[in-house]
Amino acid sequence: MRMLLIGPPGSGKGTQAVRVAQHYGIPAISTGDIFRANVSEGTPLGLQAKDYMDRGAYVPDDLTNALVLDRLAQTDAGAGFLLDGFPRTLAQVFTLDDCLEATEGGLDAVVQLVAEQDEVVQRLLKRAKDQGRSDDTEDVIRKRLEVYQEQTHPLVAVYAQRGVLVSVDAIGEVDEVSDRILAALSGGILGARG
Ligand code: AMP
Repeated sequence: MRMLLIGPPGSGKGTQAVRVAQHYGIPAISTGDIFRANVSEGTPLGLQAKDYMDRGAYVPDDLTNALVLDRLAQTDAGAGFLLDGFPRTLAQVFTLDDCLEATEGGLDAVVQLVAEQDEVVQRLLKRAKDQGRSDDTEDVIRKRLEVYQEQTHPLVAVYAQRGVLVSVDAIGEVDEVSDRILAALSGGILGARG
């Protein structure tokens, strides 16, 4: 079971990734969380990543790809994984393709969380108050949404063309959205594959 959750900042990816991964008994791998852990530990990677993150820009592909390949090589990812926040660029898609081809093929399912821009901005501003994330200020939020539209949204079409995409309405209670994702997976893309 190899899955990816894709959607704009504020669509609830992180929350849903943990729940869906738990349901399938696979690790949720969040590049944002890995970067934040490195920043708070002050590692060399964290020092490099922080500047990009604080500006709402993407960390360069070479740094990000190395980190993910290393994580996917760990034993707990052997039976499957749920990626949250990677790939985010076309170059990252190709890196992941190469990595997965070396084993057993591509992703089984890509779940797109769909949410209107106004709604995600409101959610992010609320999270800024609740969690105080350094990249949740209004300017940086706008920048992150812009970067998502430009660089990451086009990946939805790539995965749709490969026949592995399911789109789920991300507006609603957390439980409701989780139920929608699991229903879409078992009734759709994964169900069809037995
Ligand atoms: P997230 O928690 O997924 O919203 O990620 C927070 C920040 O980490 C992003 O705004 C980027 O600066 C960085 N980041 C996370 N994943 C990636 C990725 N796949 N490629 C580049 N930068 C990333």
